[in-house]
Amino acid sequence: MPTGSTRVVAVIGDPVRHSLSPVILGAAFEAAGLDWACVAFEVAAGHGIGALEAMRTLGLAGLSVTMPHKVDAARGVDVLTPSAARLGAVNCVSWEGARLVGNNTDGSGLVRALEADPGIELSGMSVGVVGAGGAARSIISAVGESGAERVVVVNRSRPAAEAAVELAPAVARLGGLADLAGCDVVINATPVGMGSDAAMAIPREVLRAGQIVVDIVYHPLDTPLLGAAREVGATAVNGLGMLIGQAELAFETWTGLGAPTDSMRAAATVALARA
Ligand code: NAP
Repeated sequence: MPTGSTRVVAVIGDPVRHSLSPVILGAAFEAAGLDWACVAFEVAAGHGIGALEAMRTLGLAGLSVTMPHKVDAARGVDVLTPSAARLGAVNCVSWEGARLVGNNTDGSGLVRALEADPGIELSGMSVGVVGAGGAARSIISAVGESGAERVVVVNRSRPAAEAAVELAPAVARLGGLADLAGCDVVINATPVGMGSDAAMAIPREVLRAGQIVVDIVYHPLDTPLLGAAREVGATAVNGLGMLIGQAELAFETWTGLGAPTDSMRAAATVALARA
């Protein structure tokens, strides 16, 4: 139960009811024995900066930011991490003294998750990313920093793809779906495959044995793309790791403690099964 000294973190978004942050972070606080709580606030578009001011006034210990506030949050904080500055979007706000720091941890959450399980170091690898929206941009930026040798960006609309390539200009280039066959790792960062969508943003023909195929869609956790990947003998990685990875980074930034990964993963798995 909350007490007068409970420290509160929040997630803001619109909609926000679907957010798993309160469940995942709540499980983490409990596992770590912390008197902390995570709550969700539905904040209408255009009020993101107001929510940051509320964070200052209320002394919230941390803020997770989802759509449609990520760009506003980048404007409302006092300091941006290099990745948040590059992306112009913030999904995690923390304190540094009296200043609010905005970070972007979606992509680094995925890189961290791949390193942890199934133990993939992207250094020297060739990585194909399909999509150029918010999640894809964060992934391209983080993969660009990971030591990957090459990042191939494939997207339905070309201008968004061209802008995304600029997030990792030393290693990224524009590509087409056929180029994914030559990649060690291919990542679906589009919503294709969500819910009951049986479509795949990455065609079966470009998948091959030995490849690592990542689908960041997490509802459902097993998508048609991952099924096709297993059929050809590729390693299939679902979106849970990225979800947990960015929550771990938030937990560690806010509390200064190591994240209780197993408890977070278990709580998310139960919540996703019920969703
Ligand atoms: P977004 O900003 O709306 O971007 C969507 C991207 O997908 C765009 O590049 C869009 O291409 C492309 N796209 C959409 N429909 C498509 C289709 N039918 N065929 C081909 N490309 C299509 O979305 P987002 O925030 O990046 O999220 C994308 C997905 O990632 C969602 O399913 C979300 O739930 C998931 N996600 C997962 C995690 C995690 O932790 N696992 C984190 C964040 C997001 P155009 O540019 O041509 O429109």
